[in-house]
Amino acid sequence: MSDVFRVTAADGAARAGVLRTAHGEVRTPVFMPVGTKGTVKAVDPEELRALGAQIVLGNAYHLHFRPGEDMIAELGGLHAFTGWDGPILTDSGGFQVFSLRDTLLELDDGGVTFRSVYDGSPERFTPELAARIQERLGSDIAMCLDICLPAGGPRSELEEAVRRTSLWAERQRDLPRAPGQLRFAITQGGLDGGLRRHSAEALVALDFDGYAVGGLSVGEERTPMLDAVEAAAPLLPADRPRYFMGIGDPEGVIEVIARGIDMFDCVLPTRTARTGSALTWEGRLNLRNARFAGEARPLDDACGCPACTRFTRAYLRHLVNQQEILGLRLLSLHNLRFMCDLVAAARQAIERGDFRRWREDALARLRTER
Ligand SMILES: [Zn+2]
Repeated sequence: MSDVFRVTAADGAARAGVLRTAHGEVRTPVFMPVGTKGTVKAVDPEELRALGAQIVLGNAYHLHFRPGEDMIAELGGLHAFTGWDGPILTDSGGFQVFSLRDTLLELDDGGVTFRSVYDGSPERFTPELAARIQERLGSDIAMCLDICLPAGGPRSELEEAVRRTSLWAERQRDLPRAPGQLRFAITQGGLDGGLRRHSAEALVALDFDGYAVGGLSVGEERTPMLDAVEAAAPLLPADRPRYFMGIGDPEGVIEVIARGIDMFDCVLPTRTARTGSALTWEGRLNLRNARFAGEARPLDDACGCPACTRFTRAYLRHLVNQQEILGLRLLSLHNLRFMCDLVAAARQAIERGDFRRWREDALARLRTER
């Protein structure tokens, strides 16, 4: 048994659990708001806490270039620097390096060379550097540097990505860590069942604190993606947390929880907010729509967020249309609260042994797009 993670209830493949980190416990399943550059855009850490957020993401790639991990370490680490004293997971930068395909210069067994998105200068990331950046940042969970390819590439490329990701994970496993820092490996293999199995077996043999299912949600269709998650999750140890990287729409989150995923992150709730849309139980509401102009009721009667308890749809629409900062902030708070509440409800349903029925009801309600 792992003393890092404990499954407290299971219903079908779905599980509820508790993850222990150096900055507190996280109850899973958990949605992790993304604070790429050391901030969840437009949201104060105290507000995040009040919304029910338990753990936030930071990104090694962006923080390495601006302001730099040594600067952050001198200022007391990422928790002190950002004012968030709860658990932090840092991504290794693999996704950023490989999703910005036109900045890639060279990939070999040693690492990857690319042009920085900040000033175009050639930079090199290695497993050793990714581990060092995260050690300096002092995050609670550090991710291994991996090779994440877009969907639809040739199998040979995918096979090579799996091989290198395992090779890199092996080199990262025993590198220095921040006090109490956990390290998660990232499985790859795209939609290829054989490669996924191969990747999982190689990484599980190295015995990490947790495992991510990476290289999905990168442009493939939803159904084969969910089939791949369903096949990938049982390949990972039952007593370790499973993290699906990059899913944050309400339906998708429910579907990956149903397949045994414990943790997930996505910029969608905050990015959607900044385009003027609200996630609700009536589906996604685009507040630019004229029908909201005179609506005196809140976004969602049942929501306890600042936007819903204090303001009308008509006012939020006005703010969005006038591109007022307050409008984008209020929608960000609401969308994050919606995701935290949704996942808490899923957790409670798992604990009650009622997840199957809850999931059907929830999906039916969410599919009403207006
Ligand atoms: Zn709300």
